[in-house]
Amino acid sequence: MAKKNVIYVQEYKLYLNSQKIRMDSFRHKGLREKLIKDLREKGIHNEDVLDAMSRVPRHLFMDSSFINFSYTDKAFPISSGQTISQPYTVAVQTQLLEVQRHQKVLELGTGSGYQTAVLLELGARVYTIERQRQLFLDAQKTLMPLNYKPVYFYGDGYEGVPSYAPFDKILVTAAAPEIPRKLLDQLAIGGVLVIPEGDEAGQKMIRIERKSEKDYQKTEHGHFSFVPLLRGKNN
Ligand code: SAH
Repeated sequence: MAKKNVIYVQEYKLYLNSQKIRMDSFRHKGLREKLIKDLREKGIHNEDVLDAMSRVPRHLFMDSSFINFSYTDKAFPISSGQTISQPYTVAVQTQLLEVQRHQKVLELGTGSGYQTAVLLELGARVYTIERQRQLFLDAQKTLMPLNYKPVYFYGDGYEGVPSYAPFDKILVTAAAPEIPRKLLDQLAIGGVLVIPEGDEAGQKMIRIERKSEKDYQKTEHGHFSFVPLLRGKNN
């Protein structure tokens, strides 16, 4: 074979390899089924949530160097010093939210976009806010080719998104030292807010249901560890 052709073949092989990494293969689907089984054994019982998670290719939301770890039940670093939440945590939060099709859901902390994709798989209309500019941009690059279409905001989630309120559901994916008042105000009556409350030492998972204009019912659902919900936005 001529030298030029050898180079072409090598380049084509490299190209195919890079495509394989960004694809969802039978191997990935198999690993995902194992992860779902693991989540079921850990007590996740909502079949809609498990189905939604079985459809989202988590490996495509992580740096390709972590591809072998994508379907272990662990949080992993993404850029800007943030993390993609542990699948169990995503499952617990999503289950507590009780998302129905077509509901308006506000997510604080787009991060990798993985949780956003899970909410979209449940048929929600998703509004997602991220304070790190790089993550805000990267999440769009990940979600768009997978045909996931949330409404993106670059800003401080503490403010919520008053122009689109009220929301049926609000999900906070970073640790808040206290429950932000503005989020409670932007919750529809009958709506639910799920938020990890606490400091770096650890947080309690809190579910708040708005019963009427002034009444909110608060319940606790175990201990978790999130990156902090920070004020302002970051360039
Ligand atoms: N849902 C994400 C989890 C990312 S970790 C995922 O599935 O990957 C939490 C994210 O919250 C980080 O990306 C962090 O930058 C973001 N964050 C922290 N404080 C915020 C705030 N005030 N407003 C919006 N996003 C915030």
